[in-house]
Amino acid sequence: MSQRRPLAELEQSTDFVRRHIGPDTADRARMLAVLGVESLDALVEQVVPAAIRRREPMALPAGVSEAQALAELRGFAAHNSVMKSLIGLGYYGTHTPSVVLRNVLENPAWYTAYTPYQPEISQGRLEALLNFQTMVAELSGMDIANASMLDEATAAAEAMTLCQRGSRSKSTVFFVDADCLPQTIAVVRTRAAALGIELVIGDPFEHLPTLECFGTLLQYPGASGAVRDFSAVTAAVQARKGLVVVAADLLALCLLTPPGEWGADVVVGSAQRFGVPMGFGGPHAGYLATRDAHKRVMPGRLVGVSVDSNGEPAYRLALQTREQHIRREKATSNICTAQALLAIMASLYACWHGPQGLRTIAARVHRLTAICAAGLRQLGYAVAAEPFFDTIRIDTSVYTQAIHEHAREAGYNLRAIDAGHIGLSLDETVTREDLLALWGAFAPAGAVLPDIDALDASIEDVLPPAQLRSSSFLTHPVFSRYHSETEMMRYLRKLADKDLALDRAMIPLGSCTMKLNAATEMAAITWPEFASLHPFVPAEQASGYHALIDGLEAMLCQATGYAAVSLQPNAGSQGEYAGLLVIRRYHESRGEGRRNICLIPSSAHGTNPASAHLAGLDVVVVACDKQGNIDLDDLRQKAAQHAEKLAAIMITYPSTHGVFEENVQEVCAIVHEHGGQVYIDGANMNALVGLAAPGQFGGDVSHLNLHKTFCIPHGGGGPGVGPVAVAAHLAEFLPGRGPRAIGPVSAAPYGSASILPISWTYIRLMGAEGLREATASAILAANYIAARLAAHYPVLYTGPNGRVAHECILDLRPLKDATGISVDDVAKRLIDFGFHAPTMSFPVPGTLMVEPTESESLAELDRFVEAMIAIREEIRGVETGALDAEDNPLKHAPHTAAVVLADDWNHRYPREQAAYPVAALRQWKYWSPVGRVDNVYGDRHLMCACVPVSDYA
Ligand SMILES: *Cc1c(COP(=O)(O)O)cnc(C)c1O
Repeated sequence: MSQRRPLAELEQSTDFVRRHIGPDTADRARMLAVLGVESLDALVEQVVPAAIRRREPMALPAGVSEAQALAELRGFAAHNSVMKSLIGLGYYGTHTPSVVLRNVLENPAWYTAYTPYQPEISQGRLEALLNFQTMVAELSGMDIANASMLDEATAAAEAMTLCQRGSRSKSTVFFVDADCLPQTIAVVRTRAAALGIELVIGDPFEHLPTLECFGTLLQYPGASGAVRDFSAVTAAVQARKGLVVVAADLLALCLLTPPGEWGADVVVGSAQRFGVPMGFGGPHAGYLATRDAHKRVMPGRLVGVSVDSNGEPAYRLALQTREQHIRREKATSNICTAQALLAIMASLYACWHGPQGLRTIAARVHRLTAICAAGLRQLGYAVAAEPFFDTIRIDTSVYTQAIHEHAREAGYNLRAIDAGHIGLSLDETVTREDLLALWGAFAPAGAVLPDIDALDASIEDVLPPAQLRSSSFLTHPVFSRYHSETEMMRYLRKLADKDLALDRAMIPLGSCTMKLNAATEMAAITWPEFASLHPFVPAEQASGYHALIDGLEAMLCQATGYAAVSLQPNAGSQGEYAGLLVIRRYHESRGEGRRNICLIPSSAHGTNPASAHLAGLDVVVVACDKQGNIDLDDLRQKAAQHAEKLAAIMITYPSTHGVFEENVQEVCAIVHEHGGQVYIDGANMNALVGLAAPGQFGGDVSHLNLHKTFCIPHGGGGPGVGPVAVAAHLAEFLPGRGPRAIGPVSAAPYGSASILPISWTYIRLMGAEGLREATASAILAANYIAARLAAHYPVLYTGPNGRVAHECILDLRPLKDATGISVDDVAKRLIDFGFHAPTMSFPVPGTLMVEPTESESLAELDRFVEAMIAIREEIRGVETGALDAEDNPLKHAPHTAAVVLADDWNHRYPREQAAYPVAALRQWKYWSPVGRVDNVYGDRHLMCACVPVSDYA
């Protein structure tokens, strides 16, 4: 008998699909048996309406092994050239501290966490984000800063609308300094046009003394490098009730008087050069800081200090009543996913260097720039005369092209200002050797290069003396304690240990798709060929990136059934905004610019109405019926009523209720009949990939969340990528696609480019069949949980066959009525079992929405089911009177070690039940570092910076 096993069979053992999908074949059979369904395909037939099911598989190649995918990524990397880019314009070389790279950016304890909505299991990242806020507020000289914005350009656009809300001026004009970063001006222009804001762009010293405007945006230092004194024009704008926004460079603010000290109302910018690689444009943390007076109208996430149930200080997200999930179209912004991980990295860069270290870095950058300019003058070039920090403008007349070429040969990219001028921005990575090489590129043949030490001995700094910073910053001990690597490593470990991320337990957040972020998918993002590229390098230096981007766009077209994709938006919310602008542009192109009504079902995610508002559309709410489906009668009536002005409908599919609505094609048809376009929110693509495609069943536009379905980690609240995908008739309107395109919606052409390899790698590893299997497995897992828990908690919505899609809503309202136990109590009690709560009260108040994803093993699903059943038994205890209605383990959850171990224990339930409600917890337990956090107290006593140093005395 032959011992031979064919190669093809042996090769399957390298198959990534079984690494990505938690349950193996035997487990899936067990799960199907619980459902009484014979195969995965049979389940899919029960769940996905036949009318919308794909007839053809996605045209994607078969999946490859992890080794093969890494080899292909190396191939892309080899086609990117890593040069030193001194282009500036908001992107600078920086050294990521190795201790931060290894322990944060490459550590799943940090990058797989979710947005810190559940503060008790998020104290570590909340502390790091609070450090970010403190750092930004102090460097900018403002009272309060958020954590964080998507990039500098969108932060400036958000600041413009903040001015609209906060200013008492009646003007509709917003003034923009012509020396702002060009991409900032472009993004602000897009936003202003959608909102009917009139922009005036020019020289602030010429316009501002007399111009009526509700706000103004200044750049400090300017894009040209000039450091100008804006105090007089600031006072002039404010005298006429306008507000002043300043886009400022954080490193420069270590040396320059911060805008807060000369009167600015809002300061925005990017924290990129604080240790976050350029990454061909992103992701980086944008920031926004303002005065206390404007805190309730500021956009973005804000971390505050509150107290927990034991009276101890605890962090939480503050003032959420400003945000889209509560205020919807009246929200201060549509931001949901922000840039948490990058903000954390930037804050740690500040902790690592401390105020003294930052000042030294800034001073060295300035000194090198001053020497560089003096050397260029010695070589006969005219350098612009204004004071500068790190950026100079050189008159290169007829030699411009030759200098660019020489510089490139030596490995440098310079800024091409125009045919006669070159710009240079220096950064902390620039060395003496670089200066010599740069001078070499400028020097006429045979010229003697300047002597660095001689120049250093003879020239002065060129910062304007009147604008030198005298105030101290980062005085809090957190910025001085962790300067040794041992201390920093342990600080990072301590913070990470406080948090619950995917490296410890399933995070069953409905709508958020917390699935595996595989190590191989993450590998390439820190390779220099992806991490070190400036977004504005010549195209030939980024051909690896372009090939990967083209490939990913094509993959996403296959997954969605659309014709074209733009990867520019930095988050789902930005994809929505871009998609709606595309729809508006389409109507305008047909002479139907009047169409400005957007229908949105009542169950929609908060970003939908908030984005519609930002895109200049009026929101009309469509009702849902008792099954949670769009009420067709109401839709018909509203579509007809608004037919003249109907721009679009925004629906989510499968619905936010976790159901494949049977009538989705009819919904699309009704809107199309009345001249509207159909926007399908693709946040739930994890239920669709390979089974059904929005572009095939009626959608015109969708955004995807690559940080949900396509494996980019959530990073504790960002980064994200929210590509916008469109049907063929809309392709020409996508950002960057030609003369009829909408304006840019992000600072960089490809948004958060450096994390795109993650999604590319996922799709490449899975292949068409693997992706389809993942989707079916996600549906299986949700139905398994629904079936196991149905006897304990009613499942709120199901399709015609009694099935859910990839998530299920557990209705806790009857239990609340009977026992007073709320969703909050259940969510907090889950922490004692070592779980992150499911999504709370979205889309239905008083419910929990569970999305297990395909990546969780059957063992983990069962652990969750066991916890939920044990909690149900505790609620039954309250029902029967076995547990006290107030003094029970649910109301007092989560239990900290300090509470359980205290000498006093005077609760009416045993300590053991508090800490070890199921036996397995004795082997391994997550202890919440704080008790339940008081939300009301936190907003009443708003504290959004590190506790003052005096409290440490
Ligand atoms: C997550 C989500 C969004 C918003 O995406 P962000 O990337 O957080 O901006 C929009 N719609 C739905 C249904 C979502 O679940």
